Amino acid sequence: MLNRRNFTRAGLSIVTIGAIGQSLSYAHNHGHKKGEDMNDTIDWKAIKKTEWKTRLDPEEYRVLRKEGTERSFSSDLNNEKREGTFVCAACALPLFTSEAKFESGTGWPSFFQPIAGNVETKRDFKMVLPRTEYHCKRCGGHQGHVFKDGPKPTGLRFCNNGVALDFVAS
Ligand SMILES: [Zn+2]
Repeated sequence: MLNRRNFTRAGLSIVTIGAIGQSLSYAHNHGHKKGEDMNDTIDWKAIKKTEWKTRLDPEEYRVLRKEGTERSFSSDLNNEKREGTFVCAACALPLFTSEAKFESGTGWPSFFQPIAGNVETKRDFKMVLPRTEYHCKRCGGHQGHVFKDGPKPTGLRFCNNGVALDFVAS
């Protein structure tokens, strides 16, 4: 039923989509630099499936939006050793620092802790045993799974899909 409230909402969503396009092209053209986070003004959780499909390439979409898992050893970020920040490939929120990265031997970029407050977890029952899924807090994009066999100081292993991250060297 179309009432006044629905009209208002429809108008708002058009404005939102315009802002998303601008911000993403800004991020891609200029890199993800600190202090330039225009992406924070966007309502990422309101982005529709069709919009995500135009914003992400097919493999990014499969991992970030469908909780897919990339083939191990397929990401260049697995061997990334420089100092810098790993940001969400969808919305550019910083998720891990290079200090938290370690060589797990699994073929996926691995970290012992995320940047505080930027990652959320949920239980995942896709396998026979439950495991803990985690995702970008801002856009909800799936990143990977966290296991309890990581190194000190946390003992955690955040096993991340490289395709779900972009690296920003510092
Ligand atoms: Zn994100």
